[in-house]
Amino acid sequence: MTMRKTISTNSSNKSGNIGLAIAWLYLASLQAHADTQVELHHYTISVDYALSRLWVEARFASPIDSIAARSRDAGKYLLDVRSCDEDQTIRMRNRRMMLPASGIRCINYTVDLARAARHDKNYRDLDPGNIIVSPSIWLWRPEITRRSEVRARFRLPHDVLVSVPWKPVQDAPDTYRLSRSPESSNAQVVFGNFDYEEVKVPGATLRVSLVKNASVTDKQAILDWLRVTATDVSLAYGRFPNPSPQVVVVPIASNRDGGAVPFGRVIRDGGETVQFFINPERPIVEFLDDWTATHEFSHLMLPYLDKRHRWVSEGFAQYYQNVLLARSGAYDERYAWQKIYEGLERGRKSRPELSPNEAAEGGIRTGLMKVYWSGAAIALMADVRMRQQSGGSQSLDHVLGRLQQCCLPGDRVWSGTEFFETLDSLIDEPVFMPLYRRYADTAGFPDTAELLTELGLSISDGEVSFRRKSALADIRTAITGANAESASHRPQLAAF
Ligand SMILES: [Zn+2]
Repeated sequence: MTMRKTISTNSSNKSGNIGLAIAWLYLASLQAHADTQVELHHYTISVDYALSRLWVEARFASPIDSIAARSRDAGKYLLDVRSCDEDQTIRMRNRRMMLPASGIRCINYTVDLARAARHDKNYRDLDPGNIIVSPSIWLWRPEITRRSEVRARFRLPHDVLVSVPWKPVQDAPDTYRLSRSPESSNAQVVFGNFDYEEVKVPGATLRVSLVKNASVTDKQAILDWLRVTATDVSLAYGRFPNPSPQVVVVPIASNRDGGAVPFGRVIRDGGETVQFFINPERPIVEFLDDWTATHEFSHLMLPYLDKRHRWVSEGFAQYYQNVLLARSGAYDERYAWQKIYEGLERGRKSRPELSPNEAAEGGIRTGLMKVYWSGAAIALMADVRMRQQSGGSQSLDHVLGRLQQCCLPGDRVWSGTEFFETLDSLIDEPVFMPLYRRYADTAGFPDTAELLTELGLSISDGEVSFRRKSALADIRTAITGANAESASHRPQLAAF
């Protein structure tokens, strides 16, 4: 609510608003000062040239009596643990380090990196010069809270690079901050002689690692594809939602089906990672036509939502994927609405006896299309309603832009209601919670038929066409009209 008062611009009491804003800034500066009081655990991490061993020295801010790794399998790869000062071996029991009750200030440990790198079967075929291995199986640490973080410095042999999702520390080479995060999945760390590139897009620098395997990869084409698709997402509110995400691209064997980008995912563990498995033998045109990257990058416009509300995260990403591909000129407008219409129909037919919350809680098999499209229906309804209420000055783009300013990248898991309540607090009239109350726990699917008609869609035998006149045609064009600059960019790249 404080947020709404300070950023509201339509109040007649301007001086009161300024006073509030100053008070808010003062409180924010106190908060920033308090945040500098975090406890820092200093880690020094080394690997050998052959990537066979990883050594860690961990110096803690205060004596620590509990240290764990996120994965249950981490103990399998731990070769040796000692206290730094007395050089005494620390025993393990049931995957736990047996630490003195009074705590410990420093440990040294060694990990069998070569074996740990074979833990995930997806990565067994990579070129031997580079490995991907999650910190979940090699990073032993105290719990990270709001008031503590790990400051990690890598000491690496010549020609060995590292890619982490953690935030780089300015003016400290190879040093990163690992702070609290939703831990939605397991972070990916790449070591070796992979290609590292920084790709600039509006509001962000993507930290891209192109992992090597036997296939030859046209590096420039892959970087162009990432730049174009990340730029698609900036067409929502002018900038990419995370200023410095890690992007990990893994080429896989070309005999698998699934087009240019068979699989992509977002990981929020210690930072935000977008990972793509690609078929490097496909031409650039196929990459530019593929929706996976636009979908995955769109996820970053929302905080990480709990499992019950996965239908909201997936639905918003489905909506934006189609809207943004139209704005960027990859889809013509009619095709984008065809895709939206078809998706909504699939959602409507998927397990009609379940509510969106029930379908998401039940997991993938319960009603995949309900999970992927009921949130898209809500996003469309909210977007149109905001544009109608405000005469076009507010939209889903604007409110998500404000959300990014206040709250992203997020450091924890949000509930769906917290997400919708926050969005409502950022606009003049609530739109999101009324839709949530109406549909989230109601069996069936949000009815969008009338709305699509008002937007000017005419559907015959499953084919979408546009009516010549309709009440909300201007809103339809505002949502999916092409952005001239972006729309000229893709054909240029595809021509190479
Ligand atoms: Zn998704």
